[in-house]
Amino acid sequence: MKLKSRAKINLTLDVLYKREDGYHEVKMIMQEIELADNIYFRKCDQLKVNCLHPFVPNGSSNLVYKAVELVKRKTGVNKGISIEIEKKIPVAAGLGGGSSNAATTILGLNKLWNLGLNVKQMESIAGELGADVPFFIQGGTQLATGTGKDLTIINKAPALWVVLAKPNLGVSTKEVYQNLSIGNISNHPDTSNMLNAIRQQDKKGICTYLGNVLELVTLHRYSNVKILKNKICEMGANGALMSGSGPTVFGLCEEYEKAIQIAKGLGPLSEEVFVTKFV
Ligand code: ATP
Repeated sequence: MKLKSRAKINLTLDVLYKREDGYHEVKMIMQEIELADNIYFRKCDQLKVNCLHPFVPNGSSNLVYKAVELVKRKTGVNKGISIEIEKKIPVAAGLGGGSSNAATTILGLNKLWNLGLNVKQMESIAGELGADVPFFIQGGTQLATGTGKDLTIINKAPALWVVLAKPNLGVSTKEVYQNLSIGNISNHPDTSNMLNAIRQQDKKGICTYLGNVLELVTLHRYSNVKILKNKICEMGANGALMSGSGPTVFGLCEEYEKAIQIAKGLGPLSEEVFVTKFV
């Protein structure tokens, strides 16, 4: 069985405060995009997870491996499976690749092993693997609050093209949150206006209300990310933002031709460039 494991971008990402349990209270609007890894499930007596990407571990430290073990523990099923991950989503890029792979694994095993898990049960298992994993059980456009696991589905966002540009560096989400001083955030994203724009299918509004407080850390630390974002704007994107903790920057375009033109003009600042779209 082959399943697509899609990436996400953040249309908004706000951090409200640091909770007593040490986690950050967030409010973010996540958008699934078409860029995807392929995950192949094959029958096998043992549990094997294989990924040829140089920065993704094989075996037990891969999030997919952890997902299989957790599903087995939660359901009492004791079967093997061989899983191969074909990576297309840049790694450690703010696009949720590992989280998506883990959620796709839960969805895949539910189907392959006839587990009969419902969405809530799968989201709950996903939540034990990471804050961004539950979003990918249903994908689409969702508001995520709490630590990121409290999800509300928003109606489907209007069709927009996405230019994704990843500079040649990897960013650790944990480090970015550690370096964020919440008191210094002067510009919180306008989540409620973004929600209205999505509900009203207002493409211009969506491009206007993009906002991510983690830019404060990553754009400050890596000037290339800032230059890349400015270049995407200058070249005529309707809006641009860093996704998640970065370093990937995206531009939104109403026209496909504009997205292609920007992608071609970005030059050596970005190591990888994709033109994709909202799911
Ligand atoms: P997020 O937006 O959820 O923080 P990300 O885009 O920043 O995700 P990932 O691509 O998920 O980052 O990779 C983060 C780390 O997880 C990498 O260091 C990678 O080695 C590790 N990892 C473990 N399993 C996987 C997997 N299946 N795919 C990608 N990375 C994985």
